[in-house]
Amino acid sequence: MAVLEILTIGHPMLSRKAERVEKIDAALVRLASDMIETMHRAPGVGLAAPQVNVGKRLITIDLSVGEDENELIVLVNPEIVRAEGEIVGEEGCLSVPDIREKVARPALVLVKGLDISGQEVEFEAEDYLARALCHEIDHLDGKLFTDRLSPLKKTLIRKKLKKAAGDGAKP
Ligand SMILES: [Zn+2]
Repeated sequence: MAVLEILTIGHPMLSRKAERVEKIDAALVRLASDMIETMHRAPGVGLAAPQVNVGKRLITIDLSVGEDENELIVLVNPEIVRAEGEIVGEEGCLSVPDIREKVARPALVLVKGLDISGQEVEFEAEDYLARALCHEIDHLDGKLFTDRLSPLKKTLIRKKLKKAAGDGAKP
């Protein structure tokens, strides 16, 4: 397993629609395990393949961040079949460092996809897990959580990120 580099906002891969996975091969299985390690190490509760510069529909989620293996979710070609309700909650993203904002997400989603062995899975998720699934699936459609904010908020974030990049500039 390897820790991969996580792309940050502004990279073109993050705004591109990812391609469906046609075949789960050894390379994809390896990518999934590298993504799990990268997500745990970050640490983060979710990661989508475009964040590690791979334009494929693959996501990993682990709300326990490595504490409970039963909470680990790996989904290939995930889709939201149904969404209900709405909850506004704080969200962050490994690709948008140090920014947390309130975003409205469905309270409950029905999600389907394939697990990493190619088995079809379908399950319901609520609250924070629903939020994480929506956030990661958004990445597969080239959307960051900041794209869901008001134009004013977006401008403020852009300024903040620019300032942070300037502060951190090295010769
Ligand atoms: Zn994210």
